[in-house]
Amino acid sequence: MRYDVDFLVIGSGIAGLSFSLKVAKSGQVAIVTKKEAMETSTNYAQGGIASVSDKYDSFDLHLNDTLQSGDGLCKEDVVEMVVKGGPARIRELIAWGVSFTRNNTDSNGLDLVLEGGHCKKRIVHAGDFTGRVIEQALLDSARNNENIAFFENHIAVDLITYSTRMKRGVVTAAHEDVCCGAYVLETKTNEVHTFRAKTTVLATGGAGKVYFYTSNPDIATGDGIAMAYRAGTLVANLEFVQFHPTCLYNPEAKNFLISETVRGEGGILIDSQGRAFMEDYSPQKDLACRDIVARAIDTELKKSGDDSVFLDITHKDPDFIKEHFPNIYKRCLSLGIEITKDPIPVVPAAHYMCGGVLVDMDGKTDVERLYAIGETACTGLHGANRLASNSLLEAIVYADRTAKSAIENLKKENALFCQDLPAWDPMGTMDSDEAIVVSHNWDEIRRLMWNYVGIVRSNKRLLRARDRIDMIEKEIHQYYWDFKITPDLVELRNLAVVADLIIQSAILRKESRGLHYNIQYPQKDDRHWQKDTILRRPFVG
Ligand SMILES: Cc1cc2nc3c(=O)[nH]c(=O)nc-3n(C[C@H](O)[C@H](O)[C@H](O)COP(=O)(O)OP(=O)(O)OC[C@H]3O[C@@H](n4cnc5c(N)ncnc54)[C@H](O)[C@@H]3O)c2cc1C
Repeated sequence: MRYDVDFLVIGSGIAGLSFSLKVAKSGQVAIVTKKEAMETSTNYAQGGIASVSDKYDSFDLHLNDTLQSGDGLCKEDVVEMVVKGGPARIRELIAWGVSFTRNNTDSNGLDLVLEGGHCKKRIVHAGDFTGRVIEQALLDSARNNENIAFFENHIAVDLITYSTRMKRGVVTAAHEDVCCGAYVLETKTNEVHTFRAKTTVLATGGAGKVYFYTSNPDIATGDGIAMAYRAGTLVANLEFVQFHPTCLYNPEAKNFLISETVRGEGGILIDSQGRAFMEDYSPQKDLACRDIVARAIDTELKKSGDDSVFLDITHKDPDFIKEHFPNIYKRCLSLGIEITKDPIPVVPAAHYMCGGVLVDMDGKTDVERLYAIGETACTGLHGANRLASNSLLEAIVYADRTAKSAIENLKKENALFCQDLPAWDPMGTMDSDEAIVVSHNWDEIRRLMWNYVGIVRSNKRLLRARDRIDMIEKEIHQYYWDFKITPDLVELRNLAVVADLIIQSAILRKESRGLHYNIQYPQKDDRHWQKDTILRRPFVG
């Protein structure tokens, strides 16, 4: 089947939905999303959105907190633009039906909370399920818009690109430079459709699934980054992966976070022998910042070989615990952990990808008509470490700017572009009889990344990881050409590309900064490394 649309939006999280709602007045929008539309990281975001809303706060203070966290790699003009864009976008979310928690003080009626790294209360939230409330409101609005069509259970396989230079008969050693849409696999029928689009937007979210432990849902396999890289765009800063220190360790609770407020309210990290270990790592002990705690737990686990450490809040009054952490209490109890009596088993987990597809201030990649927004993009806002609750903010501010740019671009449309798109070539005609190859490689990549390219890195481990991923990629490549594609194979292929890019970027950065820590280079080196790590697929002519 072939679909012709003005805007092809890949992803139905906050970035894809808010972009779609803005451009729908100017053209037909197709939202392609690989599971049900609600299945996004956005839906799981708990905390909220950072945005200056109070007379005791200021844009300068928010800017400074963001720069501080980014450890020398934020782009200051981007930070300023995003921070200043926040209040208008919050008002817009409210107009779209998002009901944030209210409070009748000075903060424009919004209840604001404080999070680590912020010097003021500026997190706008909806209870402790902010993401779900936003996702639902945006989805409701989008489903009611007659210019927006949803394609659920459709997974984008690859972008369709085209070279204007070749068309003019000039053969240059360069990548294709225009995007014409994407090939998309309908997961229920295993049919590949061609979506021809005047504008294509990658809003595919993060890549947490590349690690064995992650807070991210299953959709976070870095597809947008891998597709863009294969299409020849620039990607940047993929070594900066943020780990949340305390994710519940339980086979039945793949990605349940134990909020940092548990430590804030007196929770103590202990090892399997009951020893409190944080005083070995920081004078602030359990209240040290996220990165220090994550690194400390990682070191303890590598030393002991244990599966998890424990977060102990049992010394607090049971009623206090139940009142302050009702969700955590309920979830843990459902898994047989009574947190007023039992310490909670926890591990650090991959949480957020600071790097991604390199874009300018309008969300444009360096391939024409291709944009990237949300977690899949690298805008320069986060630098080497994301400030808490700045990611939802980045997604809505960039969706707004990108929508304006895409609408302008549409007016310049040259009707002759992308006329003769090649149909999907099914390549391997055989059904796979060895699905085990896919599941084995999935598992191997995730363990390899966890053990060798995790929170604490070393040259030896990174080189070992590079050798392994080279072999795995060769195997996947072979498999991809021999057999019919399946959603699992599409994701595995992308996961391997993203793993490879993280490893390459981590090997290149010969210093420790922000979220990247290498024991061979424990210091920050501003003289040589105060710059982005940028990669592009080598051109094969
Ligand atoms: C547990 C958790 C808590 C968080 N808490 C906060 C918080 O409090 N504040 C904050 O600012 N940030 C938070 N974050 C981060 C934030 O939620 C994400 O960065 C943000 O939601 C990403 O939005 P997005 O639109 O870019 O992607 P997502 O919301 O992840 O949406 C991605 C979409 O792309 C689709 N997709 C992916 N690949 C394909 C493909 N190949 N074909 C078709 N569709 C595809 C997916 O199905 C999905 O619809 C949290 C994240 C997690 C996991």
